[in-house]
Amino acid sequence: MEAAYRGRFAPSPTGPLHAGSLVAALASWLDARAHEGRWLVRIEDVDTPRCVPGADRIILEQLAHCGLEPDEPPLYQSQRGVLYQNALDSLIARGLAYPCACTRQDIARALAASGQVRERHAELVYPGTCRGGLDGRPARAWRFNTQNFEQNAPLAQAPHRLSATNSIADQAQTGPKSNTETVWQDRRLGHQAQDVGREVGDFVLKRADGLWAYQLAVVVDDAAQGITDIVRGEDLADNTARQILLQRALGLPMPRYLHTPLVLGANGEKLSKQNGAQALDTAQPLQLLAQAGLTLGLEVERLASAESPAAWLQQAIPLWATKING
Ligand SMILES: [Zn+2]
Repeated sequence: MEAAYRGRFAPSPTGPLHAGSLVAALASWLDARAHEGRWLVRIEDVDTPRCVPGADRIILEQLAHCGLEPDEPPLYQSQRGVLYQNALDSLIARGLAYPCACTRQDIARALAASGQVRERHAELVYPGTCRGGLDGRPARAWRFNTQNFEQNAPLAQAPHRLSATNSIADQAQTGPKSNTETVWQDRRLGHQAQDVGREVGDFVLKRADGLWAYQLAVVVDDAAQGITDIVRGEDLADNTARQILLQRALGLPMPRYLHTPLVLGANGEKLSKQNGAQALDTAQPLQLLAQAGLTLGLEVERLASAESPAAWLQQAIPLWATKING
């Protein structure tokens, strides 16, 4: 039997909600309600230098104005360092995490020396310099040992708890091309695949500044909160393979994934706090919900008579259910 549905919206308190983040919040809420599940909010405040004091409270108020109230008290990642450390310790004990002494310059130099210029989203693909030891240099960050994990736990044989998205037929049709490719089925985007070792390299678990990396915190918390379904913006789809590797390495269940369409700014780029997305003015919550619903492809004109956010949301649940079930 599958676990009862638990979903979450996980904003970073780097500023108030904008139109793009409301789309992810609405989609995750609707999906939880359509599955008669629970909907949680997690404040992802591990990257403390980027967090804005009070933004968490503003986000929760904005959600409440739109009728989106979590079923349990919000959880704050900044208070959960012990859990992340336990996870890292468990990986270290099994040779799946190692200290890295490299600066960005060191990584660039190592890549140049080997004749490779491997860059991805302006991030250098880590060449594995410290995988074999630090050679007396001081440790700065901790990285996941992708190579060691892939060699010792062939990905093609990794277990899946949720059979709906990982049937044997799926595996046969869309199984990994190589045994180092991580594959998964996104409920909206379909078949997805990434060779993490080759395309990303050994990724950071704990940063040189002592802060926890997003990937580790998310995986630990999703499991601790019993999250069965991750519904989030498509900009995060690219993190999924790394998170699946960590789930497997830590022996945690794999949730289902659904990545929602992004709201684009005037410049055609993804709307984000970084490119000046406006904070939502929740004085007109019905307008905001209608805009977000439109982005999700819902027939929002059928909800035009709703007089409150709560009424709009209730009526939107069957529209969402129809949409995702085809
Ligand atoms: Zn290194």
